[in-house]
Amino acid sequence: METHDLVVIGAGPGGYVAAIRAAQLGLKVACVEKEPALGGTCLRLGCIPSKVLLESSERFRETRLSLVQHGIRVGQVELDLPVLMKRKETVVQTLTKGIDGLLRKNKITRHTGQARLDGPGRVAVDQANGTLQLEARQVILATGSRPAPLAGVELDGDRIGTSTEALAYSEVPKHLVVIGAGYIGLELGSVWQRLGSKVTVLEFLDRILPGMDDELAADAQKIFTKQGLQFRLGCRVTAAKRVGDTCAVEIDGAPPIECDRVLLAVGRIPHTDGLGLATVGIQLNEKGRIPVNDRFATSAPGVFAIGDVIGGAMLAHKAEEEGIACVEGIVTGHGHVNYDTIPGVVYTHPEIASVGKTEAQLQQEGVEYRKGVFPFLASGRARTLGVTDGKVKVLANARTDRVLGVHIIGPQAGELIAEAATAMNFGASSEDIARCCHAHPTLAEALKEAALAVSNRAIHI
Ligand code: NAD
Repeated sequence: METHDLVVIGAGPGGYVAAIRAAQLGLKVACVEKEPALGGTCLRLGCIPSKVLLESSERFRETRLSLVQHGIRVGQVELDLPVLMKRKETVVQTLTKGIDGLLRKNKITRHTGQARLDGPGRVAVDQANGTLQLEARQVILATGSRPAPLAGVELDGDRIGTSTEALAYSEVPKHLVVIGAGYIGLELGSVWQRLGSKVTVLEFLDRILPGMDDELAADAQKIFTKQGLQFRLGCRVTAAKRVGDTCAVEIDGAPPIECDRVLLAVGRIPHTDGLGLATVGIQLNEKGRIPVNDRFATSAPGVFAIGDVIGGAMLAHKAEEEGIACVEGIVTGHGHVNYDTIPGVVYTHPEIASVGKTEAQLQQEGVEYRKGVFPFLASGRARTLGVTDGKVKVLANARTDRVLGVHIIGPQAGELIAEAATAMNFGASSEDIARCCHAHPTLAEALKEAALAVSNRAIHI
């Protein structure tokens, strides 16, 4: 029997990062992953392939529709979908192999197979040729999540599918119906709309992007509608069925919609099946997640859990932070994640990025705040780029001026939010951001101006 200080189950961003940090801290570590490729949903079937498709499809759209404004005329623009998909696969393979290299460099033992807890201090790994037994002083569960099903929607792994299928359609759908106007629905809906599909997004709520700042979500809906996405809000899907080569999506109180592809994107559920939780007495909470304390310890001694299987946002970078804090907690006794400064990014065009509290949250919590807004229309850099949709919004405590939230819709919002998150981690006030010199002309000046606007002294508006 192999013995390790730590066995990590799952090699997604939470698991492999935890394994590397543990090795750096001197632990003897094994990482078990059921898939032959490392990197989890994020690298194989989520963040990375979707960003490749978003980039390529945006270039296609830009070449067709926007280059002419720059005085660049192109002839016939054609899509070569197989080449586009091949590039996606190459990027994914390069990165997943990179994780292999990182595990080797850190002398982490890697096992391929389905791991499960097998009583205290033991992990069994079911492999093609038998079961491997591991002894572990500590175990971290980092098994992630999978797409949530929806009653009545008959997933067939082809025409009616989830993000997994929508990342690999072999042809551009004529009409794609997306169920759910969240991160996945909007990102992948945008990809296929840019590549030529008619895209109808059905959302149960009366708004898109629940959880994001209301004002930005409303702005985003207007921009995406202008781009060609069609939204039907307040729409409850009761069924989606294959009818020959087409699909029928049934909704409450309206005639069914006919389309050739359906993307179900109504959230994700934690992956805990077959994990052997009962062998160490762990019980799931009412949301199907593994309960942990502030050190990521479960109710079973020596068993920890991080990422999508515990509470909170299902984001790769949140899982990474938890992996590091969990391991540092085990080894040094200290480890902390600042959940108030975890950014969220929707990689549409323009991007939408957010960190900290929304206005609705602050109002609900009875916190008095001041707001500074700066539109990209007034940004010199945004004008030069020709991308002026959107704004930056800074929310600061009315009494202390501490920044409580920053919300951005606009060009490169996903990069710009990092400055806000860093500032908030250091407890910055809006005055602090406003007094930092920002290079001109940059998009980042819009954050400085929004910070200035908190005290009504923006210069360029
Ligand atoms: P989501 O929670 O972001 O959005 C799901 C949407 O579906 C919501 O708007 C919800 O109101 C709607 N919905 C739920 N039931 C419905 C129904 N019956 N009919 C119509 N609409 C319904 O979920 P997602 O987009 O599936 O993404 C899953 C997870 O993956 C999220 O937690 C997200 O954080 C993560 N993710 C992140 C990124 C990123 O960081 N860029 C990208 C993709 C996914």
